[in-house]
Amino acid sequence: MSETKKFKTEVQQILDLMVHSLYSNKDIFLRELIANSADAIDKARFEALTNSDISKDWEIRLKTNKDDSTLTISDNGIGMTKAEVVQNIGTIAKSGTQAFLEALEKSKAQDSPELIGQFGVGFYSAFMVSDKVELVTKRAGSDEPAVRWSSTGKSSYTLEEAAREEQGTEITLHLKGDEKSYLEEWKLKEIVKKYSDYIEHPVKMSVTKKKDDESEETTDETLNSQKAIWLRPAKEVTEEDHKNFFSQLEHFGGEPLHTIQYAAEGTSEFKALLYLPEKAPFDLFMPEQRKQSLHLYIKRVFITDDCKGLLPDYLRFVKGVVDSSDLPLNISRETLQDNPAILKINKNLVRKILAELAKIMENDSEKYLKFYKEFGRTLKEGVHTDFQNKEKLQDLLLFETMNGDAEKLVSLKEYVSAMPEKQKEIYYVTGEDRKVLEESPLLESVEKNGFDVIFMIDPIDEWVVQSLTEYDGKKLKSLAKGDVELDADSTKETEKKLKKADKEHKKLVDFLKKTLEEKVKDVRFSKRLTDSACCLVGDEYDPSINMERIFRAMNQDMPATKRILELNPDHPLVAGMQKTFDASKDDPKLADYAAMLYDQALLLEGASIPDPKSFSKKITDLMVAAMS
Ligand code: ADP
Repeated sequence: MSETKKFKTEVQQILDLMVHSLYSNKDIFLRELIANSADAIDKARFEALTNSDISKDWEIRLKTNKDDSTLTISDNGIGMTKAEVVQNIGTIAKSGTQAFLEALEKSKAQDSPELIGQFGVGFYSAFMVSDKVELVTKRAGSDEPAVRWSSTGKSSYTLEEAAREEQGTEITLHLKGDEKSYLEEWKLKEIVKKYSDYIEHPVKMSVTKKKDDESEETTDETLNSQKAIWLRPAKEVTEEDHKNFFSQLEHFGGEPLHTIQYAAEGTSEFKALLYLPEKAPFDLFMPEQRKQSLHLYIKRVFITDDCKGLLPDYLRFVKGVVDSSDLPLNISRETLQDNPAILKINKNLVRKILAELAKIMENDSEKYLKFYKEFGRTLKEGVHTDFQNKEKLQDLLLFETMNGDAEKLVSLKEYVSAMPEKQKEIYYVTGEDRKVLEESPLLESVEKNGFDVIFMIDPIDEWVVQSLTEYDGKKLKSLAKGDVELDADSTKETEKKLKKADKEHKKLVDFLKKTLEEKVKDVRFSKRLTDSACCLVGDEYDPSINMERIFRAMNQDMPATKRILELNPDHPLVAGMQKTFDASKDDPKLADYAAMLYDQALLLEGASIPDPKSFSKKITDLMVAAMS
């Protein structure tokens, strides 16, 4: 005896969408049905612990019938009683589906069928590809007869007794006319491989193979590898396994440099298998091309490989898998990013990854250096963007310094511990490359004092120093900006000298200020110089010349900030100019000297001079004068 029941309104809504869906990725229906089967087996397995009547040879099976155009998915899981069928397959209890409906309401999804793909909509997705769906199920360990549920996805379904004896559920899809590809072995294999490969239970299918003598035979084949390597104890997973798995995740090839396998417990439960690749992918700095790097699974079912929010952007180089046991399988993929559970995973992963990096840095500096050369830059992004983890991140940075060579990178901690007692600040200069910085007059008095200087030669360093203004209670101080106070003793002496110079050369300095008015905002005597005659510096909060250069290189407008010309009071050039000035303050040579001083200062920092022709003419005139 059969009975017909009407679907609840919300089910009807979902079904309408499924039936009329134009959604392009219909393949996911199989993922949903296999996931349901796997769940059902998990439940049965659990009951089997205490009930010996329950069969234990777990499998999920796909079967096709080309004559009838049917695809059958069956399992020997827990099954359902008639009441459970009515309860589970006639109403919507799940919050994920509710969320789906709400999102639907908002976006008028009739116009945007893409929305469907963003959600796991479970069993009903079968109607994307079927005219009619039949489900025969028998509850494990129950005397109740099996029940058959069937529906064309219109407004109602029918229920009747069925003859099935084995426990479990069999779902038969009567495929729509244009969905016949789901009868093809290769197609099913492909989908299972893609979405359900790591399902713990075997997904089997009888396949036909040609024998050597051209006759055909059918054999059972397991379509999924069942190898959820992130669920296996870390000790059992070989390096070879990791290499293979990594190459599945990372399409650019390469091998993992370091593997992190771990299980989070407590407020957020998940397993993670993470890889630090040995090489950076070419698109590391192309945000528009790049997907997120982690694959998200929920209870071994693949959900997405593009879950924003799972990791902060600056850790995008980390590849791997996160398998959550907290999240519902039918979670809305669209709002995944804002899901509090995802946020928790994110925090947890960041903590773990940064701790692991610190460990590598401490125990295996060679490996760390290898890593840092590929991904150090992205960590620097973190210093600027992840305020909460700034302290951990700044400890992970490495820099070149004046006293080391280009290959010897130094952490801030190492820099600080090597500081002589009298040094109070961490000195740095930013610039385009090491060679230019090495020649910079800005280093002179610092070098004489025996202090080291950090060379910031990565463009992103300009951003780093905006956030990283202090380390271990010591200020990071740009030698190209503001006042430089070296140790207290020498400062006192220098102050005295500067005062004297100010007095002696006041008029000359005023003259230079006036003459160079268009180019610099001030002319003054310097504490930084010991050998060179002059240099250019900025005020404490001015953008650096390097920053201006970077912006221009990115084709962005950046007004040039006037800088300060500093003169070395001990340099004979100052005395010489003073002499010329005293002889005749209207001597036209003085204006030429002023211009040359400024151009020289530019050349010393590796910049180009605005009018090389005029500069060269002045030099030639000077040479001719000197020779005559
Ligand atoms: P979800 O899987 O997200 O709960 P579905 O619409 O896919 O939503 O399924 C609804 C319910 O139907 C499941 O929660 C489960 O109780 C039941 N169900 C679906 N498929 C099976 C199956 N193969 N075996 C046993 N129960 C099933």
